Amino acid sequence: MPDIVTLGEALIDLVSTQSGVSLAEAPGFVRAAGGAPANVAVALARLGNSAGFIGKVGADPFGDFLRRTLSDEGVDTSCMLSEESARTALAFVSLMGEGERDFVFYRNPSADMFLAESDIDAGYLADCRIFHHGSISLITEPNRTATWVARQTAASADAVISYDPNIRLSLWPDAEDARAGAREAVTGAHLIKVSTEELTFITGHEDRDRGCDAVLEMGVKLVTVTLGAAGSYYKTAAVSGRVPGFKVDVVDTTGAGDAFAAGVLSGLVPFLKQGRGICDLEQDDYYRILRLANAVGALVTTERGVIPSLPTRAEVEGMLEAALS
Ligand code: ADP
Repeated sequence: MPDIVTLGEALIDLVSTQSGVSLAEAPGFVRAAGGAPANVAVALARLGNSAGFIGKVGADPFGDFLRRTLSDEGVDTSCMLSEESARTALAFVSLMGEGERDFVFYRNPSADMFLAESDIDAGYLADCRIFHHGSISLITEPNRTATWVARQTAASADAVISYDPNIRLSLWPDAEDARAGAREAVTGAHLIKVSTEELTFITGHEDRDRGCDAVLEMGVKLVTVTLGAAGSYYKTAAVSGRVPGFKVDVVDTTGAGDAFAAGVLSGLVPFLKQGRGICDLEQDDYYRILRLANAVGALVTTERGVIPSLPTRAEVEGMLEAALS
């Protein structure tokens, strides 16, 4: 069984062939595999981890493409199921410049929303060390209960629970629902990865440290905050620090957050295998973990698309070594 299991949406990103235009102006679209939890699983596999993905895709050519993509990348897809009653979700995306993206989702409903409690194989989660999920699978039933059941099963097996709120307000009934859903999932998660905007949205605090303290008070053991080109910040009950990013020639920042999340999980796994938990790690350990995650995030921005630009472990190590010399 995989060491790290991600659960949620795998979907098709249809990316505008021209940058700097709105979706309405896009002249054409290119297909790419996407969905944050699927991206994280592929990023983990690229970094040499044993990773599995739980989710549903349509019994259609796009679902087949997604399953084949994840499987070719080395992700375990034995719990990636097909849904007969709905199509694979689509997300049209246009890169507007300055990191802005114009997004439209087609999931009215989509196959991923039909993952149900009865689809969760407890045995698959019995020895996973980390379980990672986002928010999109928490929006509607039966997906929401399936996510919680899988998370509780993994937690009972002593897995680290990792949550990326990845807030997409347009998919929630309203902002208050989105906030309540995110706060519920933050509560009891061991590790979260947020942008500064998400931290403010969830906690109401503009100040980063106060925001981090608020989520630590909700029971989180490690908060990681992404800071774009500036790198990242982390805080636990005992230690905190900012970890500088890498200077790169940015082409497309799509997927940097997913790549960063995978870098954090990948950096944690060796410690977990030594029997050391999040609360046992020291400042140096976290610096190394976030520096690795920053390198993974930076490398993914240097090419167009997410999955084609995800780095291998050797590429990440090369970047870390070059920065030392
Ligand atoms: P999110 O999707 O969570 O907003 P960011 O865009 O901040 O994520 O990116 C995640 C991580 O990827 C950052 O914390 C940083 O380590 C890296 N990264 C993102 N953009 C850049 C950039 N322009 N230059 C270097 N590293 C970057």
